[in-house]
Amino acid sequence: MSSAGTKLEIQVAAEPQPKLRALLVEDNEVDAELMSRALRKEGFDVCIAVVQTAVEFRQRVKEESPDIILADYNLGDWRGVEAVEILHGESLDIPLIIVTGALGDVNAVECIKQGATDYVLKDGLARLPEAIRRALREKHERHLRHQVEEDLARKVDELARSNADLEQFAYIASHDLQEPLRMVAAYTQLLSERYTGKLDENADKFLGYASEGALRMQVLVKDLLAFSRVGRNCPPRDNIDCNAVMKEVLQSLASAIQESGAVVNCAELPTVWADHTQMTQVFQNLIGNAIKFREKAPPIVSIEVEKAEQHWLFSVKDNGIGIAPEYAENIFVAFQRLHARSEYPGNGIGLAIVKKIIEPYGGKIWVESQAGAGSTFKFTLPLRGANAPEGARP
Ligand code: ADP
Repeated sequence: MSSAGTKLEIQVAAEPQPKLRALLVEDNEVDAELMSRALRKEGFDVCIAVVQTAVEFRQRVKEESPDIILADYNLGDWRGVEAVEILHGESLDIPLIIVTGALGDVNAVECIKQGATDYVLKDGLARLPEAIRRALREKHERHLRHQVEEDLARKVDELARSNADLEQFAYIASHDLQEPLRMVAAYTQLLSERYTGKLDENADKFLGYASEGALRMQVLVKDLLAFSRVGRNCPPRDNIDCNAVMKEVLQSLASAIQESGAVVNCAELPTVWADHTQMTQVFQNLIGNAIKFREKAPPIVSIEVEKAEQHWLFSVKDNGIGIAPEYAENIFVAFQRLHARSEYPGNGIGLAIVKKIIEPYGGKIWVESQAGAGSTFKFTLPLRGANAPEGARP
């Protein structure tokens, strides 16, 4: 009866298929032969090795690395399904089909739960070839999925690395450019103070352009530095009362509010788990824009908040010039502006900073608007900080 280690080579002419290496966990030689016949009949070019004990199985499965394992359920002192545990222990992804004389529904479900791919009854061996094909197909699909996931993970990694490199570059460049730029700005300023009116008319114009350009470049570099600083050193989070933040913001926007005749209505705001300075930047940029991008009528700005299941939903609404929907995403990209500086001052960095602040908190920001119909900027912040220590969260 023992056929341990026996190797049957079966070559079949009909419907040639790739060679199949099968490991049988079977203590009945006749059953092993019946199985190999069932496979031959279906045109499998099969190479079969047979083992009986768990020790043999563990050794052969590593040596042979078979395509498929066909295991009897009851093998005297162990069960074929225990082979699944051995496969898991050895981190081997080989489909295992239980091929057994009888298997009640409960045992069948148990086998599948433990990780067997399928089961086939010995008096229904005609089903075995299809069960094997399906198991191999599923393994192939699993393999492809795994490859795609690995590929994706690698690309995400590369992207994160190149983003970090780019941010580092932007930070260093903007930081190190400040000093030479200060020199250029100071000396063009000096030249223009000393020599304006002493050379010819063109020289005066050129000096004017040079100092204006140097000053603009200083502002741009300062903005770029501010943008690359956000999120560089993740600031510690705390319970931040947004009402207190709003009070500060309205104070620093006081002259813009007064000048434009703006009315700012603000609801009672919640406490959030965030950084005070960052929350100030968020509200200041959004309310500042709501006042800046106004129509002829004085701005009316409303700040509201709703509590959803998982997050706070803030909104900053204005009655200003609005934004055509096709630009709704672009405006959050650094240095993207929809107007000339002569119409509305600014460098196009404010919303990019707001987005860069909100997203690491697990929040989102977007705008709902139509050109000429006012804008509502909405952003979410989680009710609880995901990385906050349990007791310290709001
Ligand atoms: P900046 O204000 O310096 O232009 P932002 O990044 O804050 O930069 O805004 C980017 C662009 O988005 C603005 O130039 C403007 O075109 C548009 N925008 C922002 N806020 C509003 C608003 N409340 N109403 C209309 N347009 C806006």
